[in-house]
Amino acid sequence: MASIPETQWAQVVEKSGGPVVYKQIPVKKPGPDEVLINIKYSGVCHTDLHAMKGDWPLPTKLPLVGGHEGAGVVVAKGDLVTEVEIGDHAGVKWLNGSCLACEFCQKSDEPLCPNAQLSGYTVDGSFQQYAIAKAAHVSKIPKNVPLDAVAPILCAGITVYKGLKESGARPGQTVAIVGAGGGLGSLAQQYAKAMGLRIIAIDGGEEKKAMCEQLGAEAYVDFTKSQDLVHDVQAATSDGLGPHAVILLAVSELPFQQAASYVRPRGTIVAIGLPANAFLKAPVFGTVVRMINIKGSYVGNRQDGVEAIDFFARGLIKAPFKTVPLSELGKVYELMEQGKIAGRYVVKMPE
Ligand code: NAD
Ligand code: ZN
Ligand code: ZN
Repeated sequence: MASIPETQWAQVVEKSGGPVVYKQIPVKKPGPDEVLINIKYSGVCHTDLHAMKGDWPLPTKLPLVGGHEGAGVVVAKGDLVTEVEIGDHAGVKWLNGSCLACEFCQKSDEPLCPNAQLSGYTVDGSFQQYAIAKAAHVSKIPKNVPLDAVAPILCAGITVYKGLKESGARPGQTVAIVGAGGGLGSLAQQYAKAMGLRIIAIDGGEEKKAMCEQLGAEAYVDFTKSQDLVHDVQAATSDGLGPHAVILLAVSELPFQQAASYVRPRGTIVAIGLPANAFLKAPVFGTVVRMINIKGSYVGNRQDGVEAIDFFARGLIKAPFKTVPLSELGKVYELMEQGKIAGRYVVKMPE
């Protein structure tokens, strides 16, 4: 086995607002309950861009190494670690660690842990060659699964799989996926299809339209062209009554205020996207007499991770991704800011 170097390449946010700086930093040693993972690939989530911009009401650590879709190989572990072996393939998720003792952790709602540690936000994440995570929280990855393609599952896949379950939509029912052309959206379509759901994709532009149709959407509503989005979404269901569920993944406020108008009576709206300074809005009258359910969904627990990776390992989840070297992370953020990414970008670590 190759020895662990003293220093490594990383992308570092040195001040809130960015940019990212590609530089050498020290490799840290794992604590007693932690593992050190030699990251091979990391997906780039829009959350990483929020973290660099500092646009959420939750401060990041600084300087910060972002990234929370890191897939690689375990190269060191602390004395207390029994569940993971050196040489295992493993993933660093958004939930880097949690206390495992509070009410939420006890009930397997560990994303709600008041002392949760967040990869690439409150602790350094996966945009470095060697990342640390609590052994209890890393995702095991089967060795026959490619580490580049599985990386986006570690946040985007787990999150949309959980969100679809939270929606309560059943096989044969229709789900509207808002932001369907993005990283979470492209995976949401694949999970929805694997779960037997029918899909209305909502996003902008022809490239995303073509991708959504290829991923399994029965209808595509272009928010940049539609004159009456509420009508167009409802008209895309066979009886005109609207989708049974709406999965909100867009990074803009308006869709969070439109969904209550087109969701089906008794339907569920699941808010997952996190546009800065945004508010949900719904008419009280319509929400009451149409019995609409509106809820939030935040990543997933460890078992959601196991299940989301299992869908992927069985070949059911195939979403497009592009790979660039870690040194080009800044360019990925520029494209993301402009809404120009269809699917996901994955950064490859230097050898
Ligand atoms: P992305 O940039 O890849 O995708 C966002 C998509 O939304 C783009 O395709 C964009 O064109 C589309 N969009 C913008 N305005 C729209 C509109 N009005 N109608 C329809 N589509 C619109 O981003 P991503 O990585 O998929 O992340 C999406 C959001 O989810 C981010 O805010 C991210 O922070 C958040 N997120 C939340 C969780 C969670 O646990 N709740 C987990 C991961 C990411
Ligand atoms: Zn993410
Ligand atoms: Zn806890």
